[in-house]
Amino acid sequence: MNTSISENIAQVSTQITRACQLAGRASDSVSLLAVSKTRPAEDIRSAYACGLTRFGENYLQEALDKIEQLADLPLEWHFIGPIQSNKTRPIAEHFHWVHSVDRLKIAQRLSEQRPADLPALNICLQVNISREESKSGCLPEQALELAQALSELPNLRLRGLMAIPRATEDEQDQRRAFADLRQLLERLQQALPGLDTLSMGMSGDLIPAIAEGATIVRIGTALFGARVPKNA
Ligand SMILES: *Cc1c(COP(=O)(O)O)cnc(C)c1O
Repeated sequence: MNTSISENIAQVSTQITRACQLAGRASDSVSLLAVSKTRPAEDIRSAYACGLTRFGENYLQEALDKIEQLADLPLEWHFIGPIQSNKTRPIAEHFHWVHSVDRLKIAQRLSEQRPADLPALNICLQVNISREESKSGCLPEQALELAQALSELPNLRLRGLMAIPRATEDEQDQRRAFADLRQLLERLQQALPGLDTLSMGMSGDLIPAIAEGATIVRIGTALFGARVPKNA
């Protein structure tokens, strides 16, 4: 048993509960997605032993290896990294959620490749909410038309929006970006009332994200410690 992971989980859970109280929200209205990229399968076992069941991965091959090593556990796998169009099949076959869909072509492939014996694949539309040149995600003004197209694909279930706002320490700026994403979801909900998910907030900004309505926070560092860069 890894004591630092269990202590970190307790701390993050307390932060989520407090942020929900401050925002006047039920504490079960936010779900904790543990971002386990670059972490060994053993860390995921430790987190599972502490009650976590939802894990987020960015790198496909690494994720597939861990999914296989952990097939004995009832885990829910979320793909949160950039998607190459020639890599959609294993994502459609092995994941429960994909947060990083930002174009129709990728969604069409995921829908076509989703195995018939599995439930619809939950997806979020990723939005480049801070309009950064280098970032994935559709532009906010493209979101409605794209969401309508995604919601018609038979083997996908569009759940809502995901964003990674511009990195900043300024809590006002953090909140503004999260508020922008929430307001965009509210506009989409007028056409697509089934949308129920705002995937936003990471280790450094989960409190403002929850204040602005996050329903899934994606937390890596605060649970597992600092990551060693891939090419170090
Ligand atoms: C790595 C990653 C996270 C987790 O970031 P931390 O700062 O380690 O909590 C969340 N979302 C995405 C899309 C990521 O790539």
